[in-house]
Amino acid sequence: MIRIEVPGNRLEPAERFGLDVLIDLSRLLVAEQAEVDVVRITVLEHASSGSPVADLAPGAALHRASGEVGITIAALAAVAEVAGGAVEQRSLAADRHGRVPAGENPLVAAGRSREPLVSVLAAELRRAAVAVAGRRPVRLLVPWPDNRRWAVVITHDLDVVEWWGFLPLLRMAELGRKGAWRLSARVARAARRSIGRDPISKGVNGVLQIEAHHGIPATWFVICAQPSLRSMVSGDCTYHPDAPATHRILSAVTRAGHEIGLHGSFETGGDAVRMASQRRWLGRLVEKPIEGVRQHFLRMRPGSTQRAMVEAGFDYDATYGFPDRNGFRLGVADVVPAWDAARQVILPLDLLPLVWMDRALSKYAGIEEAPLWVQDGIELSRQCRAVEGAWVGLWHPNLTEALGFPGAEPAFVSLLETLAHDRPYFASAKKVVEWRRFRRSVRAARVTADGQVLLTALPGDHPSAIEDASGNAVPAQAHRDRSNGAA
Ligand SMILES: [Zn+2]
Repeated sequence: MIRIEVPGNRLEPAERFGLDVLIDLSRLLVAEQAEVDVVRITVLEHASSGSPVADLAPGAALHRASGEVGITIAALAAVAEVAGGAVEQRSLAADRHGRVPAGENPLVAAGRSREPLVSVLAAELRRAAVAVAGRRPVRLLVPWPDNRRWAVVITHDLDVVEWWGFLPLLRMAELGRKGAWRLSARVARAARRSIGRDPISKGVNGVLQIEAHHGIPATWFVICAQPSLRSMVSGDCTYHPDAPATHRILSAVTRAGHEIGLHGSFETGGDAVRMASQRRWLGRLVEKPIEGVRQHFLRMRPGSTQRAMVEAGFDYDATYGFPDRNGFRLGVADVVPAWDAARQVILPLDLLPLVWMDRALSKYAGIEEAPLWVQDGIELSRQCRAVEGAWVGLWHPNLTEALGFPGAEPAFVSLLETLAHDRPYFASAKKVVEWRRFRRSVRAARVTADGQVLLTALPGDHPSAIEDASGNAVPAQAHRDRSNGAA
């Protein structure tokens, strides 16, 4: 348990956002009122160490005293710069798809994009609070439901449904350019064998089967725009959302209990009206409200695209990953609220950053061995586990031998097996966001003199699980006489 002792007018809005994010990621339970002494969190006016990454270093950011942990204001500002995406929101640079180039990201610039630095600082804040507590009671929120210590979200972007016959040809051309002739010949043989079959449905069904085996509820992002010659040539929208083939895939995915989100086509990146109409159309097709979105090609302008998502009615965005590498674009292995740097406000939208994508190494680093893609994903999953956070991965269901990717399907099987071995909380993006919103809302409304904790939280059917500093469950009473509901 902690008390936050920061006068309301002391912090700029971005610094306040930084403090809220750090406390949330730390899992420290905030007491609103305590009849016993608890650890105090204060802020310190130290000069910046020169860059957001330097300011996030725990040694510079945190200062321990008896019963008190001080956090520098520079560190709080750095959280908004990195986890709030403020640096990228200010950037005017664009690659050929209009995306902010990875080099503009402060973590990439500092060579630290494979570490969730903000999550690491939050974990250090928790350790510091426990270390200075002495006899003061320490209570933490459990990281995830079902007694799980970390989470895994498996996502799929449905980029191709119709006209898949071109895919092996495109892939052979790509491999030809790289001089991978043996692989190219294998692709040609597999493509000949699959003529007349429906390799896309086969790929989707293969993925559904493996996930059913592990009991994994995945999240599928589906394009819902009218294709045109132009959209097909540019790799934007290539299939009809209401075609029978699309319908079969959507039904199979829904029947399997997976979540469906919108894969926003290129034109939606800065256009809330088009985004809203695609969201409604997809909602009609699957007869469910669509709550999440990920932009196709990860094409977005940080800040303005998220404002459009809010206007279009989305609850969460799963776009924040690097298009050309794997890692932590926002420095977190977790869900964070979206920060609007231009207006200095928190948006009513949560961000679930993408950590790993199947083809990042193949497309941009020329690595064609699927086991190496998986190895890269597993390496990053260890970082997520270490901070008890969430690993979000993207697997394209069209990565099959018939469509140009020999060895990809067995690699996906081994990826899921390895992840499942470490017993994560496997859940859809929607569930993970819901849990984190709930966890973020929990407060100790009161701590009595004998150490009893009364909790308040947003309404929800989540267990109000708290634990002590060693991770042992602690009973807590829900505080029921409040209008905002009880834990
Ligand atoms: Zn896509």
